Amino acid sequence: MRLAMLARNAGLYSHQRLVEAAQARGHTLDVINTLQVHMNITSNQPLLRYGGKTLPLYDAVIPRIGASVTHYGLAVLRQFEMQGVFPLNESVAIGRSRDKLRALQLLARAGIGLPVTAFAHKPKNAESVINEVGGAPVVIKLVEGTQGMGVILAETEASAKSIVEAFSAANINILVQEYIAEAEGSDVRALVVGGRVVAAMRRVGRAGEFRSNLHRGGEAEEAHISDEERDIAVRAASVLGLNVAGVDMLRSNRGPVVIEVNSSPGLRGIERATNADVAGEIIGFIEQSAAHGQTETKGLKG
Ligand code: ADP
Ligand code: MG
Repeated sequence: MRLAMLARNAGLYSHQRLVEAAQARGHTLDVINTLQVHMNITSNQPLLRYGGKTLPLYDAVIPRIGASVTHYGLAVLRQFEMQGVFPLNESVAIGRSRDKLRALQLLARAGIGLPVTAFAHKPKNAESVINEVGGAPVVIKLVEGTQGMGVILAETEASAKSIVEAFSAANINILVQEYIAEAEGSDVRALVVGGRVVAAMRRVGRAGEFRSNLHRGGEAEEAHISDEERDIAVRAASVLGLNVAGVDMLRSNRGPVVIEVNSSPGLRGIERATNADVAGEIIGFIEQSAAHGQTETKGLKG
């Protein structure tokens, strides 16, 4: 097959691994710098131009779109979809997962356990939003944050109130969430590929840090997840319409709760912690799906 990957940095571990896995299985994979693609979106023959040339018609496209370029990146991915190219993850599904509010609403509708969460833009009084989730301590999050940046633990009512008020004054949308203290700075990531968990890791934040993100100094080890966790991860990916997803869960006193579903999960942490060949699983999934021309959208609402 002839594959394309939308990525900005071809040298990243995850991107190199996908190129290796594709080549090992006899495919070619062109890494295309998302921001250097341009396109005439009104032509009835959807084309993509790159480096002065028209891109060939690929069998499948792997989107690895960074959070800072979501909008343009999804437009480029949609153009591939217009051509009927099989997207590893569809643009609309990536859009759902990038917006934490939208993702949580869809997961809640499907009955998936979540931390109690309230959404606020300009609350008349911050106390009512904080009380909505059971009072301090609370976690306050930017709706489109990533890598742990934009996630704050407010330990007292007074600090929670002043943080909510500060974001409100700056016109920034936030989520206010119940703090799952019993997770003790750790979470579990299950990597779902094509409706199956292919690897799982437990991440633990560095000392004194409640965020377990590897980018924030957290450490990963292989996780043995329960059937319930496995089932929740697969359902969460499916509710958002993602073929490949990193589903992050906290182990709470009332069972697993999903905090986030990542549509471009990093491969380094999870492959190193588990020795799983996640890149190979992804390419294997593309072989099965693209070959059967499964390019139709799943037609989920929202
Ligand atoms: P990001 O998109 O920036 O990774 P997350 O929502 O995944 O944001 O939060 C980052 C980390 O903070 C999580 O991996 C988890 O360790 C911790 N965390 C997030 N929400 C909660 C919560 N409600 N209770 C306890 N810890 C949390
Ligand atoms: Mg996260």
